[in-house]
Amino acid sequence: MPTGLGCNPMTPRRVPDHSTLPMALCYNRLRMLVDTHAHLTMSDYAPDLPAVLERAAMAGVSSVVCVGIDLSSSREAIGLARRHGGVVATVGVHPNDGAPLPGCWLDELRSLAAEPEVVAIGEIGLDYYRDRVPRDRQRELFQAQLDLAGELGLPVVVHNRQADSDIMDMLGRWASQLSAQHPKGVLHCFSGDLAMMQSCTEAGFCISFAGPITYPGSKNAAGLVAAAASDRLLVETDSPYLSPQGCRGRRNEPSNVRLVAEQMAIFRGESLNTVMHYTGQNADRLFGLKDRSTLTLRD
Ligand SMILES: [Zn+2]
Repeated sequence: MPTGLGCNPMTPRRVPDHSTLPMALCYNRLRMLVDTHAHLTMSDYAPDLPAVLERAAMAGVSSVVCVGIDLSSSREAIGLARRHGGVVATVGVHPNDGAPLPGCWLDELRSLAAEPEVVAIGEIGLDYYRDRVPRDRQRELFQAQLDLAGELGLPVVVHNRQADSDIMDMLGRWASQLSAQHPKGVLHCFSGDLAMMQSCTEAGFCISFAGPITYPGSKNAAGLVAAAASDRLLVETDSPYLSPQGCRGRRNEPSNVRLVAEQMAIFRGESLNTVMHYTGQNADRLFGLKDRSTLTLRD
């Protein structure tokens, strides 16, 4: 079971400075890591969610964005955000979950999105790898949810698997119709190339990296992470999936977002605190987290 400060206590620390947050700092502004993408509604967390969130707080995480993938998980994400301070929700239909939807799905999503716990529309996008849902149906669902986000002034959390060109086209068209103040969104667990990253960030989107940047085999990650604009970078776990190196094969959880931030610090030649600071600020800005409650530690 992962501990709060990295999942393998025997793993040597790779970042010399700020590698262990003193307990006292966990209570103040230095606790600013935001896990911008976690599926806490999965049954994996049913037995011990309070302990999972406690470990996240201990690791320096202030907020977790709990991401819906269909109507029922979106509803559950809102309920979970109501019960746990420091958790906020997104609502949306994932491209792999778009086949059997009730006729009124978009109205239902619209009413869920109006709940105060909701900070974005997502997880939405295109998945041409799994192809579980016909591609034209995926594009139809994606566009309808982009339009909903536009209507409600919300950012989007975007899933992209082997659909770079259509994602770019659809996001580009959507973003060009929005006002300058409208928060755009994030390409979660970014898998595109440098050119795609640059055009997304120039269009106002954030780029989020997850556990795969810690894998020895992910050769492109270092260059991408190093080249990203600091005001567009986010960190995430995609829990319970994509456990960082050292925890692979085990359930991922939000405390491990610290390992992603540490790897990002190494690739960028920055301190962990610097990465925590700007990724936290970027998450605050994108999801409007500033005046919301944060994860709390029990006495
Ligand atoms: Zn996800």
